Amino acid sequence: MTETKTIAILGAGTMGNGIAHVCARSGFNVLLYDINQTALYRGLDTIRTNFAREVAKQKLTQQQSDDARSRIALTTKLDDLAPASLAIEAATERFEIKSAVFRDLDRILAPEAILATNTSSISITKIAAQTKRPEQVIGMHFFNPVPVMKLVEVIRGLQTSAATFDTVFSLAQELDKTPVDVNDAAGFISNRVLMPMINEAIYAVMEGVATPEAVDQVFVLGMAHPMGPLTLADFIGLDVCADIMRVLAEGLGSPKYNPCPLLVRMVDAGWLGRKSGRGFYTYPAK
Ligand code: NAD
Repeated sequence: MTETKTIAILGAGTMGNGIAHVCARSGFNVLLYDINQTALYRGLDTIRTNFAREVAKQKLTQQQSDDARSRIALTTKLDDLAPASLAIEAATERFEIKSAVFRDLDRILAPEAILATNTSSISITKIAAQTKRPEQVIGMHFFNPVPVMKLVEVIRGLQTSAATFDTVFSLAQELDKTPVDVNDAAGFISNRVLMPMINEAIYAVMEGVATPEAVDQVFVLGMAHPMGPLTLADFIGLDVCADIMRVLAEGLGSPKYNPCPLLVRMVDAGWLGRKSGRGFYTYPAK
């Protein structure tokens, strides 16, 4: 184990509770923080359910699951995060929120602590510049669902030191993940390649080249993808897809990344995919 013993996780939503789960499962003490108490309780419920599933699948014993659960403490007080030697921020994807969080962490955590962000699209370099320790700021981009997906993109901002990178890269391995070394650029690798593919699939539908079902079949049966790009777009959220395309267009400076007009119209209509009950497919209410 590295010297990192206590990890602070900020944001207990979809990603934050998953990151808390894998950190606790690997033996770290976790301080899970959110501004919203209800989000903390909801996050902990999800963690309990996911541990129970791992016990049922015999990936963990009941004892291991109980021990892991007992290593997670919840808090709505930022000052409680002071003992952490690493913070992983997984709060809402807005620069103003992240910049305030990083300024607070910089003030509260020990000078040697590392500050990581799970942002999908905001520049690591820009977040790092909010702190007085930019060489200790790094991207740690997990994938949903975190307890299951193996990949972590470890993203170096312009200022990130080699020591910070090495610590976080080996930490990701301790979390039983496979880290990949990436430099800071819009969309990193995952979204830079995935989102234009989804966008192009939407163009194919808009232009009447094929139906959503046919496009998805091409990828499932021809490229062995576990799901086609339009099913995946519905799963991610069409609003999120459109936002990421805009980040790519701005960050990479090319109109080729503009969101497809059909995608924009569907978001305008409130057809956001699975979460709204309708996207390229329809989803009956649970
Ligand atoms: P989410 O909406 O499920 O959760 C965000 C949580 O952040 C909420 O509980 C909210 O109360 C909390 N929050 C808001 N302001 C905060 C603050 N100042 N301090 C602490 N917590 C605060 O969002 P999510 O899907 O978990 O996304 C979190 C981050 O992870 C985003 O940066 C997102 O881009 C990134 N990400 C998401 C995915 C995904 O598939 N959902 C994948 C990779 C990365």
